[in-house]
Amino acid sequence: MWQVGAIVGMFGATYAAFLASAAFSLRRRPCPGCGTKLLRHVATRRLFESDGKRWIESLYRCSACRGEFLRRDKGPLVPRHLWTAGMRDGIPTARLIDRD
Ligand SMILES: [Zn+2]
Repeated sequence: MWQVGAIVGMFGATYAAFLASAAFSLRRRPCPGCGTKLLRHVATRRLFESDGKRWIESLYRCSACRGEFLRRDKGPLVPRHLWTAGMRDGIPTARLIDRD
């Protein structure tokens, strides 16, 4: 009888791992640099202006190519070197196409 328990236990573990990997991939988005879904949200900061305007800036980092991207609110991801140069709206000529 213990064999049945072991098989059920193995199946349960596999299922749990599948659920964990599904949740894992849902949290991650494709990297604009290399296309792998290893872009991870690493930081958020809230910014306020004196006239009451507020927004959120998020920093993402890719585990595959080590690229860093920022975005304002729900805006496009902007590579860090362009962001620090003042760009906030992405590159008009480069549009990310989801490979899935
Ligand atoms: Zn990447």
